[in-house]
Amino acid sequence: MTTTTTAAATGTAQHPLTGRTALVTGGTSGIGRATAARLADLGAHVLITGRDAGRGEAAVAAIRARGGEADFVRADLRDAASARTVAQQALQLGGGHVDVLVNSAGVFPFGPTADTDEETFAQVYDLNVKVPYFLVAELAPGMAERGEGAIINVTTMVASFGMAGMALYGSSKAALTLLTKAWAAEFGPSGVRINAVSPGPTRTEGTAAMGEALDQLASQGPAGRPGEADEVAAAIAYLASPQASFVHGAVLPVDGGRIAV
Ligand code: NAP
Repeated sequence: MTTTTTAAATGTAQHPLTGRTALVTGGTSGIGRATAARLADLGAHVLITGRDAGRGEAAVAAIRARGGEADFVRADLRDAASARTVAQQALQLGGGHVDVLVNSAGVFPFGPTADTDEETFAQVYDLNVKVPYFLVAELAPGMAERGEGAIINVTTMVASFGMAGMALYGSSKAALTLLTKAWAAEFGPSGVRINAVSPGPTRTEGTAAMGEALDQLASQGPAGRPGEADEVAAAIAYLASPQASFVHGAVLPVDGGRIAV
């Protein structure tokens, strides 16, 4: 029997991601920041990206204060070049390997189709679709070469059904949902698991401005309340961990049951 030597060390049951590097886009806020903390708790060296250095350093400091390993990579992600640059920086900081990629950075402007200008359209598709696409293009082949890796995309419940005012946002995440499945087919046979979580209304800095509208939206689901960022992060951490070793191409709803009813 031959054994494969991977770049990462083998983790323990309590810290299954020890020796692994995890890149979390949008790790300066909300779901991404909660995910970065969870992955650090599992033993990963976490690399957090975002544009806001203050929030990035604060997120890193919070992880380090709990004994975790984290670094901040400042980046305005908007195109293939910025995605490739971040991937290369992550590989450098990660000692040559990125083993977990979480695509959480996203924008979600809502509004009528007739009022949406081309710049907004481009901004949404650039961050929500193009950036994950080129991050995966840059990082998944290395994971495939090592025979292991996990990629988790953050989509949304409104990628599954039509809702007025969410055509642009929902369609961008529907593209990411299909990419999740296509990438599972492409990289899964090489040992790379690609999955997604599909959150419902979740309390984050990004949704704070929605005020009561968030509660109203959430009231339509069985749970009857908005989720917390850490509840979504728990699902992402599961998909990143070896516990999800037989889970490929899945889209896990974390939406209080909204799309089930
Ligand atoms: P959030 O609090 O607004 O955080 C968004 C993150 O994306 C921030 O870390 C932000 O970092 C980063 N970001 C935005 N534009 C960027 C850019 N151009 N370059 C680099 N980073 C950028 O959002 P959230 O509510 O946690 O949402 C996270 C993900 O979950 C998104 O993909 C969203 O679509 C999805 N989601 C959220 C909900 C919800 O109800 N909250 C529901 C379903 C799906 P900087 O500001 O530091 O740049």
